[in-house]
Amino acid sequence: MKYKTKEEFLDTVVDNYKDQKEFHQAVEEVVHSIWDTAVANPEYGKFNILDRIVVPDRTIIFRVPWMDDNNEVHVNLGYRIQFNSAIGPYKGGLRFHPSVDLGILKFLAFEQVLKNSLTGLNLGGGKGGSNFDPKGKSDKEIMNFCYAFMNELYRHIGRRTDIPAGDIGVGGREIGYMFGQYKKIRNAFTGVLTGKGTNWGGSVIRPEATGYGLVYFVVEMLKMRDDSLDGKIATVSGSGNVAQFACEKLIELGAKPVTLSDSGGFIYDPDGITQEKLEYVKELKGVRSARISDYAKKYNVEYFEGKRPWSIKCDIALPCATQNELNFDDAKELLENGCFVVAEGANMPSTTNAVRHFIDKKILYGPGKAANAGGVAISGIEMSQNSTRIPLKRDKVDGLLKEIMQRIHTTCVKYGSKDDFINYVDGANIGGFVRVADSMIDQGIV
Ligand code: NDP
Repeated sequence: MKYKTKEEFLDTVVDNYKDQKEFHQAVEEVVHSIWDTAVANPEYGKFNILDRIVVPDRTIIFRVPWMDDNNEVHVNLGYRIQFNSAIGPYKGGLRFHPSVDLGILKFLAFEQVLKNSLTGLNLGGGKGGSNFDPKGKSDKEIMNFCYAFMNELYRHIGRRTDIPAGDIGVGGREIGYMFGQYKKIRNAFTGVLTGKGTNWGGSVIRPEATGYGLVYFVVEMLKMRDDSLDGKIATVSGSGNVAQFACEKLIELGAKPVTLSDSGGFIYDPDGITQEKLEYVKELKGVRSARISDYAKKYNVEYFEGKRPWSIKCDIALPCATQNELNFDDAKELLENGCFVVAEGANMPSTTNAVRHFIDKKILYGPGKAANAGGVAISGIEMSQNSTRIPLKRDKVDGLLKEIMQRIHTTCVKYGSKDDFINYVDGANIGGFVRVADSMIDQGIV
């Protein structure tokens, strides 16, 4: 092993990639978990896996010029990080949000490598997107932007190379426009993107998969304490794709979600968000200008402007909005109020100190790379349906989702159990890492 301590290694990451703080955070968390495993296996040192695993295979940055409805020309940055293809073609979402930069996309792509490994499927890791802000844009502007983005991205992706999907700001509509443009340029109808409409190669349950999978993972965690979702109160953040379908599954399995949020604030509905109210949220969020505060007006509940929902008493907290949305103070307050399960629908929503607190207090804490892997897993199933050209039925795909989430849980237990506690962070990081590292060694110095 080239490094004597993990701190020595982490210092090199910080030095080499200045101004990429989210990437440092993601690497640090992983290295704390895998260090002993990496030191114990001399092959990992001999092949210098640590240095190699934190450098993307390639990083593509490009100009995206597009025209708005007033004929004004704008330029955004487009990115695709092809991080690691040791176990399969690059796979990971595209994010359109003004906060997007290299550090954020590198953290997401790095997490994706280990997450995809955990699914047990042959999927490498990547991520991409743009600092384009879809909020307030017309349909035509969104279409123009998606076309312009694909005008460059098409040359870097392909069904055997790199298969992007959606993420924040990229849903079914955006995937449709990008797929249309790819098909036009390449004159090829292939499964180059996932999250497609079911009429043109998409899989049933793909929109639901991240949120449903998250709740299936919570069910498995609760089983470890002979407990179930029945009657549990859950706080959920976000109100987009992941949050909506997490709520839907919570309701179906007998829990009571009481909050939802967006970047403006959160609503608290002590009677519980029902399926009927959730249908309203889905409709609301389909309208770009709509805000979660509209829910408060319609159902006469409290709206907390500029706040996050972690002060509300609950058994289970599911952060499903964005990175670093739950800090140490939030973590303390949650636990003081009796919360004993935290599972992440979003990627890295808890800060490093919040994560440490959850682990110190030995609650059931499911990190995003394990708990939210259902989305990419069903993307993998969408890819196999595209290859065979045989669409699967809803029950079949839902069954596969449950099976994969159970398998991920088993891997976390296998690598994360110590004494009477399951450290899911260690379990997910070590379980994901070993498969990728061993595959890199099998393939030599590439
Ligand atoms: P959506 O765009 O559908 O929804 C995002 C939600 O998060 C919105 O309610 C949005 O509010 C809120 N949000 C975004 N940025 C912020 C912020 N800075 N502060 C507060 N709230 C914010 O995205 P998804 O539901 O798809 O993604 C949510 C999270 O889940 C992300 O971390 C994503 O990486 C992760 N994820 C998604 C997967 C998927 O399949 N979609 C798979 C695995 C993980 P507003 O409308 O006000 O911006």
